[in-house]
Amino acid sequence: MQTTFSIIKPDAVANGHAGKILSLLEANGFRIVALRMTRLSQSQAEGFYAVHAARPFFASLVKFMTESSVILMALEREDAVLKLREVMGATNPANAADGTIRKLFAESIERNSIHGSDAPETAAEELKYFFTGIELSQR
Ligand code: GDP
Repeated sequence: MQTTFSIIKPDAVANGHAGKILSLLEANGFRIVALRMTRLSQSQAEGFYAVHAARPFFASLVKFMTESSVILMALEREDAVLKLREVMGATNPANAADGTIRKLFAESIERNSIHGSDAPETAAEELKYFFTGIELSQR
């Protein structure tokens, strides 16, 4: 079993797709270990996406991620990191496979409905950034 970190992004929450996305995740074998709805502060979003700080879209990405509520999740299943990336689809919804969350719900390469950690090490860091050890150990 592996745990990965995911965010239902502001576009998907605002457009009323959160329930459908949670349902899709469960249908794909993910167990919701921890979940919290919140609105990210500027510094939380900047810290979370620090790896992209030099990219031209950084300011726009931070503005988007702080514009309204998000849903933070810890998701468990076998091969969770890789499997979530599969279920999410490509970063740009124009390139996302049919049936993926981004193909179904994303508005653009930026407003693309869901985040999922890209590697087990990243997942561990991102989970720790948003959740306490107690939240992550509930079963
Ligand atoms: P991910 O791992 O598929 O989420 O993609 P990345 O780690 O490369 O990028 C992080 C997030 O930045 C993406 O999910 C998008 O919300 C946003 N993003 C990525 N590439 C672009 C881009 O070329 N333009 C804009 N405006 N946003 C982007």
